[in-house]
Amino acid sequence: MPNVVLVGTQWGDEGKGKVVDVLTPQVQAVVRFQGGNNAGHTLVVDGDKIVLHLLPSGVLHPDCVCVIGNGVVVDPEVLREELRSLAARGRDLQAHELVVSPHAHVIMPYHLALDRLREASLGNNRIGTTCRGIGPCYEDKVARRGVTVAHLLDPAQLRAHLEVVLPWKNQEIVQWHGGDPFEVDELVAAYVEHGVALAPYVRSSTSVLHRVQRQGGSVLFEGAQGTFLDVDHGTYPHVTSSNTVAGAACAGSGVGPTAIDEVVGIAKAYTTRVGSGVFPTELDGATAEHLQRVGAEFGATTGRPRRCGWFDAALVRHAVRVNGVTRLALTKLDVLSGLDEIPICVSYEGVDDDDFPTSLATAVPVYTSMPGWSEDISGCRRMAELPEACVAYIRRIEALVGVKVELVSVGPEREATIRMGDLFTRDGYPRAVGH
Ligand code: GDP
Repeated sequence: MPNVVLVGTQWGDEGKGKVVDVLTPQVQAVVRFQGGNNAGHTLVVDGDKIVLHLLPSGVLHPDCVCVIGNGVVVDPEVLREELRSLAARGRDLQAHELVVSPHAHVIMPYHLALDRLREASLGNNRIGTTCRGIGPCYEDKVARRGVTVAHLLDPAQLRAHLEVVLPWKNQEIVQWHGGDPFEVDELVAAYVEHGVALAPYVRSSTSVLHRVQRQGGSVLFEGAQGTFLDVDHGTYPHVTSSNTVAGAACAGSGVGPTAIDEVVGIAKAYTTRVGSGVFPTELDGATAEHLQRVGAEFGATTGRPRRCGWFDAALVRHAVRVNGVTRLALTKLDVLSGLDEIPICVSYEGVDDDDFPTSLATAVPVYTSMPGWSEDISGCRRMAELPEACVAYIRRIEALVGVKVELVSVGPEREATIRMGDLFTRDGYPRAVGH
């Protein structure tokens, strides 16, 4: 296996969890490099479902090191709860199996309070955050007034830091929003205790990942959210607070760009988006409801219904360029069964195929219509078993975005997958020359 970055090419919820699951058994380390507990994937342990929001999905594989990189923001309560719920199911993560970067920033209770209070005060202009304190935590990181995991291991430094920062936070909470203030003593006591509990896992992600690679191991960098939620490359301001694109895997975990061999882009066979913001191919009415119902398009973390629309090849083509996607995985193709025809947005009016609009707000999609298929495809395991119209749909997407589809997902189950190409079908993969 090469070192692979896996990213969503739309607005998140592309079904990344399942593709990560296919690749994880072949790697020695799985890394989260951005975001916080606003991601969400469901793991099944002995028939028992656990939803993880922070831990990488490698946790079920005893030989795999799970890394929470410096680019992630960590809520210690959530992390410890996930560790406890895994331990209760017999999976007690040992110190050598989990790495938490000392440079990762910590989501403090005042971040959660500010996230909720600010969203409530914005009314109809709310950003639609998950209110987990992630945005306010990243703000403090960039403003150089954040609390890092390293601070939790040094009570004196944590106290000194909070004595400077907390009055600012309390001023906004109390005077602007009428909320309740936080106390330095209480925060220090609670977060030093978190530090003691997490200390065995706190190590440099750079050193650990370098060691894995030196020993011939492979690393999977697991992106959260999607390309168009990236704070720089997404549909600002309706974006997340971190860089979600493949390039962020390096900065967010402390490895160099030369360590990355492949970038897998995950695209849903149609498009969805949660919350506010532009969405050129959005549908309303019966077709939107059909996709929402058949695709179970409700958020894993918040339960919010997702907005639905046709596949936007102009959008995914841009994501391929931003991320340097080398292979594409197409998910939820089964959801399109039973439609007479399936429109695809091939470009935007007046915009060349090798260009992208300065703002999607004015983008007018140009559609082509593909014939649909009526067969249930969820039992198909090879391309040859798919209806002709379905294969034509996949081939059209490949041609429009310029990358081969090497994995097709036709149902939520692990087996409901058609795998092609060496990355998804072979265990041993020759490493790129020079590594
Ligand atoms: P992620 O955040 O990108 O991992 O996506 P989510 O987990 O939020 O959404 C994926 C959802 O779709 C999960 O409930 C999966 O079980 C489900 N899913 C994944 N692939 C397929 C598929 O090919 N078909 C169908 N019907 N559901 C799928």
